[in-house]
Amino acid sequence: MGDIENVIIVGSGPAGYTAALYTSRANLAPLVIEGFLWGGLLQQTTEVENYPGFRDGIQGPELMQTMRDQAERFGARFITDLATRVELAREPGGVHRVWVGDAEHRARTVILAMGAEHKKLGVPGEEELGGVGVSYCATCDAAFFADRETIIVGGGDSAMEEANYLTKFASRVTVVHRRRELRASKIMQDRALANPKIHFEWNSEVVDILGSREAGVRAVVLKDTENGEVREFPTRGVFYAIGHVPNTQLFRDKLAMNESGYLVVEEPTTRTAIEGGFAAGDVMDPSYRQAITSAGSGCKAAIDAERWLAEHEGH
Ligand code: NAP
Repeated sequence: MGDIENVIIVGSGPAGYTAALYTSRANLAPLVIEGFLWGGLLQQTTEVENYPGFRDGIQGPELMQTMRDQAERFGARFITDLATRVELAREPGGVHRVWVGDAEHRARTVILAMGAEHKKLGVPGEEELGGVGVSYCATCDAAFFADRETIIVGGGDSAMEEANYLTKFASRVTVVHRRRELRASKIMQDRALANPKIHFEWNSEVVDILGSREAGVRAVVLKDTENGEVREFPTRGVFYAIGHVPNTQLFRDKLAMNESGYLVVEEPTTRTAIEGGFAAGDVMDPSYRQAITSAGSGCKAAIDAERWLAEHEGH
C-alpha cells in the first residue's frame, strides 16, 4: 500500500483524462485507473467531427491518445487495469480505497468516470453469436462484412453513423427501428436517408437471432410492433446501436443512482453524496453523452476535487 493520493480517477474516457489533465496541472499528481481498453468508447470510433478545435475532424483513438499524453505531460500516472473493488469514505477527511486486484490504493478524493457500455437486447442468439455476426461496434467489425447484408438496430445518431460506415463494406444495410420516426439528429438522418445502400424496416423489433457459431448469423426474426406479426429477415451481420448502460456496478448500494443506473450528482456540481467523491462523464449523464460534454464534466470534477481538498486541508 502506497501513500495516500490526493486524487484517484477511475476511468479514462474524455471525462477521466480531462479530470487528469486539470488535477495534474493543479499539482495534485492524480492516479488514473484507466482500465485495459483505456480511452473509453471513442477508441471504437472512427472520425469525430464534432469535437471543437479540429476543423477537419480527428480519429477517435488519436483524440484519446492525445488527451492521455497531455495529462501525462503534467504528471498524471496511469494504471492500465480495472478497479475491482471500492470503499468510499463516510466522513470528511476519510480515505477512499480502490483496489486493482490485490493492490489497494488510497486517496482523499475520487473522481468516478467509468463511462458506459453498449446496451444489449437480451434476445435468444445474442450471446451465442457474439463475435460471429453479432457486434456492438461497426467501426471495429464492419470490414468482416464485405459484400454481405447487415442490419443495424436502433434509430439514434449512433445507428445512423454506423449504418453509413457499414455501407463502405456491406452490400446492403438495413436499419431496424422500433418506431416510425428516427431519434437521430436531422443531419444524421438526412445523410442516412440519402444513402442508396441504406434501407429501413420501421416499427420492427429483433426478437431472435438465428445461426450457429460455426456458420455465423443467417437471419433475425423481426416482430412488427403494431400488429405483432413475426417474420424471418435474412442477414449475416447484426449491429447494435441502441444506447448504453453506465458502468456503475461497483457502486451499487454505495452511491445514489437513478433507475437506469446513472450516478446522481448535486447539480450543477459533480459532487456525489459521499464527501470527496465526484462523478463525471457518461456515468452521470443520461442525456448529452458527447465527448465534449464528458470532457467538460471531467473539468468540473477536477475543479470540485481541488476545491474540496483546499477546504479540507489539514483533516
Ligand atoms: P440514443 O440516442 O439513446 O438512441 C438509441 C436508439 O436505440 C433509439 O432510437 C431507441 O429507440 C433505440 N433503442 C433503445 N433500446 C432499444 C431496445 N431495447 N430495442 C430496440 N431499440 C431500442 O443512443 P445513441 O444513438 O447511442 O446516441 C447517444 C448519444 O450520443 C446521443 O446524445 C447522440 O446524439 C450522441 N451521438 C452523437 C453522434 C454524433 O453527433 N456524431 C454520434 C453518435 C452518438 P427509440 O428512439 O424508440 O427510443
